[in-house]
Formats: sequence, C-alpha cells, structure tokens
Amino acid sequence: TRSWNAPTIPISNGPQGDCVTGTVVRVGNLHKHFRSGGETVAVFDGLDLMLESGASLALMGRSGSGKSTLLNVLSGLENWDQGDLQLFGESMSVGDARRWSDLRRQRIATVFQEANLMPAMTLIENVQLRAGLAGRSEIDAQGWLQRLGVGDLANRYPDQVSGGQRQRAALAMAFAMQPELLLADEPTGSLDSHTADDVADVLFEFQREQGCPMILATHDPRLAERCDRIFRLGGEA
Ligand code: ADP
Ligand code: MG
Repeated sequence: TRSWNAPTIPISNGPQGDCVTGTVVRVGNLHKHFRSGGETVAVFDGLDLMLESGASLALMGRSGSGKSTLLNVLSGLENWDQGDLQLFGESMSVGDARRWSDLRRQRIATVFQEANLMPAMTLIENVQLRAGLAGRSEIDAQGWLQRLGVGDLANRYPDQVSGGQRQRAALAMAFAMQPELLLADEPTGSLDSHTADDVADVLFEFQREQGCPMILATHDPRLAERCDRIFRLGGEA
C-alpha cells in the first residue's frame, strides 16, 4: 500500500533541501507573436526577465498583455519565436518535449485558470496523484487541503465544488508536489476578497518556508504588492 497520508504538518516542514540556488528563470530577448486572421500580433518584442532562487515575482498588465502567454512559455506549453530561456541553469528549447514534461511533473508546479484537476478523482485523490507523480509519496494531502480551506470537501469530485474551491484544491496539489518553481495564473482571481487574502497568506507562507520561487500573474494589486518584485507587461498597466 502507498503511504501518501503520512502525518506531516504542511507549511512547517521547512526547506526540502532540493531548492536550487542562483537564478531559477532567465529569459533573454524573448520574441513571440500570434497570427490571428490575417494579422500578426507581437506579444513579446525582446522581453528580459530573471527570477532568483527563493524570490517571488508578480506579473501585471492589462488583459491581453501576455501574462498567460509568458507563463505558458515558461512551462513549455507554448513555443516562442526567438530568445533564450534558461530554467534551473539549463537552456531550454521548444523541441525538448521530454525535458519539459519531466520538469512539469517533478519540478515546476503550474496553477492555471482552467484548474487542472482530474474530473474522475476526488479532491484528495487529485492531491495524492499530483504529489505521487512528482515522486513525493510522504505527503499529508488532507493537511494541504485543510490549509487551503477545503479540507471538508476532500472527498468531493471537482464538479461538486465551486470554481474557487477547485482553485484552492489546485494550489494544494501544487504545494503537495513541493516544486522548485511555482507558476500561477490569477491564483486568487476566482476568489472573493476575504478568501483571496487567506489563500495569499498560504502562498507566501509556503514560499517563505519552502523557499520556493514563484511567478504569479495577477490583476490584484494587493497580491502583487506582497511579491518581492512586480514585472509589468504591455507598457501601461
Ligand atoms: P493576458 O493573460 O495578459 O490577458 P494573454 O497571454 O492571454 O494575455 O494574451 C496575449 C495576447 O496574445 C492577446 O492579444 C491575445 O489575444 C493573444 N493570444 C493569446 N493566445 C493566442 C492564441 N492561441 N492565438 C492567437 N492569439 C493569442
Ligand atoms: Mg491571462
């Protein structure tokens, strides 16, 4: 039997010892365009970005400024036209499907808007699965759900909870895999302001205690201000 439910206390676990030091993300001179209809839309035209170990970065910018596209590029889900991308000190290119999927399984947690839960599994099974795929078998899935305020919904299926509750379960999945980089797209976007504050508290506790670097795309200035740095896309924002 698998022992996914070892009684560890999440958050206060302390550093797991596998956090990389130095620069986690380095983007240099990134160019990216989309073609829609007959038109070419340049989303990035020479973007430079760095994320140091243990740091948090907020991506801000109006709708359509490229926040989601950048997170997709950083997780290997979207290609780019030109520029250098290094993750954990290694150069990445679009064709490295195997390396990208290894990174996403084990080292990079992505919490995107269409919360990526498996519909045929309960919330707690989703957390267990996610952590198990990342090789973290000794996790307290119930504890993570509890910490995110959805512990009493652990045995429900994703379609039996609200969008905001799915979002919180998705964050529990991300934390339980103990990633070395967390990428989150509007992690509090579907939450009321009180719940958003609670979830932000958990996010920053996690970041502080695990030393996990993170990039958060957000419209919420209160969330952005809690990050070490704010990076604005698309000129004004
Ligand atoms: P944000 O997340 O900041 O709202 P996005 O990254 O979603 O912005 O979009 C950036 C720009 O790229 C927008 O102009 C959007 O219309 C365009 N875009 C995004 N995805 C696609 C796509 N798959 N095909 C064509 N255009 C796209
Ligand atoms: Mg977006």
